[in-house]
Amino acid sequence: MVSNLQNNLINKEALYGAKNYSPLPIVLQKGEGVYLWDVDGNKYLDMMSAYSAVSHGHSHPELVKVLVNQAEKLAISSRAFYTEPFGEYIEKLSKLSGFESILPMNTGAEAVETAIKAARRWGYFTKGIEENSAEIIVADGNFHGRTTTIVGFSSEADYKKGFGPFADGFVQADYCNTNCDCSKICEKSIQSIKNSINKNTCAVLVEPIQGEGGIITPQDGWLRQLRDLCDDNNVLLILDEIQSGLGRTGKMFAYEHEGIKPDGLILGKALGGGLLPVSAFLSSKEVMSHFNPGSHGSTFGGNPLAAKVASKALDLLIDENLIENSKVMGNYLKTKLQEINLDFIREVRGKGLWLGVEFDQKISAKKVCLSLMSEGILAKETHETVIRFAPPLTITKAEIDWAMEKIIKVLRGYQ
Ligand SMILES: *Cc1c(COP(=O)(O)O)cnc(C)c1O
Repeated sequence: MVSNLQNNLINKEALYGAKNYSPLPIVLQKGEGVYLWDVDGNKYLDMMSAYSAVSHGHSHPELVKVLVNQAEKLAISSRAFYTEPFGEYIEKLSKLSGFESILPMNTGAEAVETAIKAARRWGYFTKGIEENSAEIIVADGNFHGRTTTIVGFSSEADYKKGFGPFADGFVQADYCNTNCDCSKICEKSIQSIKNSINKNTCAVLVEPIQGEGGIITPQDGWLRQLRDLCDDNNVLLILDEIQSGLGRTGKMFAYEHEGIKPDGLILGKALGGGLLPVSAFLSSKEVMSHFNPGSHGSTFGGNPLAAKVASKALDLLIDENLIENSKVMGNYLKTKLQEINLDFIREVRGKGLWLGVEFDQKISAKKVCLSLMSEGILAKETHETVIRFAPPLTITKAEIDWAMEKIIKVLRGYQ
């Protein structure tokens, strides 16, 4: 089924590359909007958007134009100097998000590390925690990236095995998993986080919806309770919205569904407009004031090219109505997926254009992804039994209708 051309390229990766991924057997050559093409010219509908990094669609022409123009002018300068695009970019992000101060990084994991540093300094310098004893509470099933510190507080054995020793100062508590049978709003999770808080706790760091964890969507009200808990205990609430942010769930930020505001916000993925790695940590002036020259940095963070592209990516979210489209098309796709009446589908969950379909144990999500691929749809499993559907936020109803026909056909084949 895989052509010789594709096979050759796949074999090169196998021969020369570390095997830290196991990609679907397809070699991509080109992307445009919601579509991708392989090297043999076959066309696919992208329903995973590079783990939500391509919310604007592939090679958005206006973003490419901005990228090329800025690349010809000034791309990288380091922050040893001020540059033309950076100030305007962070002003825009600040006004749009309501956070006073921004620290730019490149990948998501770096922005998470930045949040950890910010939380700890705030803990020592504002809250008065005794030196080297600050604790950050994280959730069971979390995914925050791949640095040794971050995998150290993961609950996934695969992420950690053989990579220790790990950093101290992280405490795991229960996430609000809808599968739990709490009578009140995720009582178990809130109680568990509450029990983990002590005088050394500087922050709670969670995802509003756990993406890599399987699109685990907490009950309504959980985040509000968590906000109150943090307020009552003088603990920062830091949200990792690297994947959930910037319109993915049908709101600019997922926390808006709950009408709260965190003390720190981590963004990445779609911030780079699907062209570059761009991430940021956002917080108050007070929290950020504990960074001084020399305490933290990044050679590429906030570079002119990234600043210009991210700035345009933010504009386009608004100008092209991508957040509203995520809400409307997300609801439509969710309803259509819920209407598939097959007994091995356990649950359809998620918000906006970020949906997970969970199967019974007997169905392999990876196999379903392979079948979808042969029908011209690219999607990706998370864990063994969940498929995620997260197309670019530009997707239209007609494109969803086309996809649903294929999805139904493939799933019926597993009956
Ligand atoms: C992808 C992701 C990260 C890590 O981002 P990288 O750019 O891969 O380092 C962190 N947190 C969440 C919630 C993510 O989805």
